[in-house]
Amino acid sequence: MFDFLMTPEQLKLRDEVRELARWVPREYILDMDADKIKYPKEFMQECGRRNLIGIRVPVEYGGRGGQWVDDIIAAEEICVNGYIFGCTWGVTGDVVAEALVHYGTEEQKQKYLVPICKGEKFAAECLTEPRGGSDFFGSTTIARRDGSDFILNGQKRFIVGGEGADFFLVYAKTDLEAPSSKSMTCFLVEREMGVKTEYLYGLMGCRGGGTARVVFDNVRVPAENVVGEVNGAAPVFYQMMIPERLGTAAMTIGAARPALEIATDYSVKRKAFGTEIRNFQAVSFKIADAMMKLDACRSLMYTTSRAVDSGTVSAGRCRRMVSEGKKFVTEQCWDVANLCMQVMGGIGYTDVYPLEKILRDLRLSMIWVGTNEIMSLISQHEWYKERAAELKGHNKRDSELDALNAFVEGEKVYQ
Ligand SMILES: Cc1cc2nc3c(=O)[nH]c(=O)nc-3n(C[C@H](O)[C@H](O)[C@H](O)COP(=O)(O)OP(=O)(O)OC[C@H]3O[C@@H](n4cnc5c(N)ncnc54)[C@H](O)[C@@H]3O)c2cc1C
Repeated sequence: MFDFLMTPEQLKLRDEVRELARWVPREYILDMDADKIKYPKEFMQECGRRNLIGIRVPVEYGGRGGQWVDDIIAAEEICVNGYIFGCTWGVTGDVVAEALVHYGTEEQKQKYLVPICKGEKFAAECLTEPRGGSDFFGSTTIARRDGSDFILNGQKRFIVGGEGADFFLVYAKTDLEAPSSKSMTCFLVEREMGVKTEYLYGLMGCRGGGTARVVFDNVRVPAENVVGEVNGAAPVFYQMMIPERLGTAAMTIGAARPALEIATDYSVKRKAFGTEIRNFQAVSFKIADAMMKLDACRSLMYTTSRAVDSGTVSAGRCRRMVSEGKKFVTEQCWDVANLCMQVMGGIGYTDVYPLEKILRDLRLSMIWVGTNEIMSLISQHEWYKERAAELKGHNKRDSELDALNAFVEGEKVYQ
């Protein structure tokens, strides 16, 4: 985020998170990438000790009581150590916390939200199934009523924190006959209730976040662990999609930023043809483009955060801004990493510099929390609705008529 837009409190928050990022030993980062550390428990505990989990969670539950603008400041800084740091931090303190803040009972908040913010318990979010992730409402994980409990059966996959989390926010079908948006329920399922982690994937990047398959084989969940209403998962899901996508976008900026810093520093030291390579426009213009892309991403994230924080922007407009922001930022940041790798030449492709790791990690951003295709699906849907409403409003110039032959007979044919 831009310094000049930050309040003194936000600058302080940013510096606190920068200090946390510096606290992480380099061996820790390397061990996560080597899959020697399966879940960054110590990092999460340290976040809790520093009161840096749950930036938007109300203070009474141990959070910072901040707004989205605060959150994106923290998210960018957290990810400088690697995208997966933000993934684990965000899933617990942004995404699962969001569901608890908005839909949790007071008992659930005390039991699950407070320990999250203290860094004592870690959460995972279970949406995606082997059958698919984009078609979320087509879930085949089923929770069957048994007295006052539910019996959960099914599988979820690619779950960050599958290894490491103490509890899981799980979406399951509870009414097989109802329309899909009224057929699912959201549950808090503790690992100790019988959740099994069957398989750890080999990942291209973002290792060390415990990403795993999670299996529910007749897991008994008490009714008090329903989040929101029975068959009422849809509003919980829509609420959580804001932190999923806005948070992810802000995190991606932080994960890409070191690429620009490293490539810039390299280009003022490395020489070719008797001069520093920054003196070749082919190099310095790549740096300019990477910087421009990151600044554009920050601008969009700031505006979108302000829109969500304001509470006055319609849900549809927020959904569009968040979705297009996620797609735009993740694609721009992917470009940033590639431009910076190009500046480094061959050495950028080795593990002498972390460029190759940044690139591997960043690829996830275009796939998870809803693929970028799904982001386009949502954006266009909301935009067509907005445009239809605009046409009814009649307070804008009709630009279509500003053509020489706008009124020529028989040329505006639509079918
Ligand atoms: C490392 C990692 C961590 C993850 N962490 C989590 C997690 O913590 N929790 C969780 O629940 N999930 C998690 N995911 C899952 C992730 O969100 C999904 O992989 C993603 O949503 C896509 O689902 P899918 O893999 O089933 O692909 P599919 O849904 O099968 O999609 C395959 C392709 O089809 C396209 N497609 C599908 N439907 C449409 C459509 N209607 N219009 C246009 N294109 C379409 C998609 O864009 C994609 O290109 C994680 C994934 C990875 C790899």
